[in-house]
Amino acid sequence: MKFTSTRSILSIESSTAITKGIADDGGLFVPTSFPKLDADLVGKLIHMDYQARAKAVLSLFLTDFTPDELDYCVKGAYTGTFENDVPAPLVEVAPRMNLLELWHGPTCAFKDMALQLLPYLLTVSAAKTAPGRTMIILVATSGDTGKAALDGFADVENTRIIVFYPQDGVSSMQKRQMTTQRGANVAVAGIEGNFDDAQTGVKSIFADPAMKEYLASRNMEFSSANSINFGRLVPQIVYYVSAWCDLLKSGRLAPGETFNITVPTGNFGNILAAVYAKYMGVPVNKFICASNRNNILTDFIRTGTYDRNRPFFTTSSPSMDILISSNLERLLFHLYGNNPAPIRDLMAQLKANGKYTVSPDVLAALQSDFVGYCCDDQATADTISALFREHHYLCDTHTAVAVNAYRQYLAENADNRPCVIASTASPYKFAASVLPAVFDGALPANEFEMLDKLSEVSATKIPAPLAALKNAEILHPAAIERTAMRDFIRDFLNK
Ligand SMILES: *Cc1c(COP(=O)(O)O)cnc(C)c1O
Repeated sequence: MKFTSTRSILSIESSTAITKGIADDGGLFVPTSFPKLDADLVGKLIHMDYQARAKAVLSLFLTDFTPDELDYCVKGAYTGTFENDVPAPLVEVAPRMNLLELWHGPTCAFKDMALQLLPYLLTVSAAKTAPGRTMIILVATSGDTGKAALDGFADVENTRIIVFYPQDGVSSMQKRQMTTQRGANVAVAGIEGNFDDAQTGVKSIFADPAMKEYLASRNMEFSSANSINFGRLVPQIVYYVSAWCDLLKSGRLAPGETFNITVPTGNFGNILAAVYAKYMGVPVNKFICASNRNNILTDFIRTGTYDRNRPFFTTSSPSMDILISSNLERLLFHLYGNNPAPIRDLMAQLKANGKYTVSPDVLAALQSDFVGYCCDDQATADTISALFREHHYLCDTHTAVAVNAYRQYLAENADNRPCVIASTASPYKFAASVLPAVFDGALPANEFEMLDKLSEVSATKIPAPLAALKNAEILHPAAIERTAMRDFIRDFLNK
């Protein structure tokens, strides 16, 4: 299995793609072809547990990893880290409506599915491509990614991780999650400014020759844990294959039947993993792409024009508040027949004018697989409330956007196929928005009292990692100026 860039033709191994993260031409790494799940393999997968399914799927993409290396990676990532050691349970909430719960990991959001595995994939990759080198993971975060990356990389050998978050741009729960992180190789600092300031600071440090030289002199190298790294995408393919196996195993789907997948979408990573599963042979009928009020993808799927010249809204599903869905570039590359020339052109237009329009053929191909729906915060809250009333199922705001989209799709289409809906966060992670949707009384002011109230109203348990935060010690109080990020990194690396 070889990998190429979306912007020029290359032929590299998966370990190089994972170590580098992003191609030198600015493109993203993609597989040049897709391995197929034949009937024989599917017959075996159905009877495997999640770890064995993960090893089987990963081995088809990461062909330069040995079976022992994959075994080490998968065991490390998924043993003792997810509730009951079941990382991705598929819950039938109503007839045909199956929620794929991806939030039973240490930070209670779906990013754990990939970020528990990425550190292992990265260290094994780096040992192949640059033996002995320490990888320095730099992250700018608006909340969820920072904590999931910290938890994944904490105490992983040959890595150090440094996370910058905007002082005033994350929720107090998210801040508490990050500032209490344990591990000898982690550093966290709040910076003066907003997320864009943090992101711009990190990008300029990545590109700074003096910093590169400083790291090289210590046999260190920067790497990235954000969702454009193929090492974050490949773990996500696994859970869609696994969901299909669970549908077949439980008889909710017969062999040869198709089903739909709905995904609450931001950077387009999660839904793209579902598309990759289809390319491998998972029989998906439609991908229902769900957006909040930042509905740039809904418009794109309906018109073929991607236009970021629009207002940005802050919503109750903040992890989907995004105007540039980076991973869309990968889908476009495949829809254009794995041809980098049109992708270079579209991305140049996006950079220059903030928009592009795909060809009529590509739009037709897109629309044969995708439908797009969106909803605002009120509809999101109404959906949480309705799902709780009708099925006694409590979901978070991001998942509610997906359920809403699925219901819009059903209202317009007579389709009685089963659907798998990606459930991307624990409702407790967004208690301030979820609680008022299911509880009419006066709201507690304190966030931990909100968790208690939500638990009481819904008769569900507060996830242990969130409950534990209440008394956790603050280990990373650092609050720094934007201009002090380089010094902060050097101080930490000199220790
Ligand atoms: C990151 C995130 C999303 C969006 O996923 P993408 O892969 O960026 O499309 C949705 N929901 C939650 C809870 C998230 O943390």
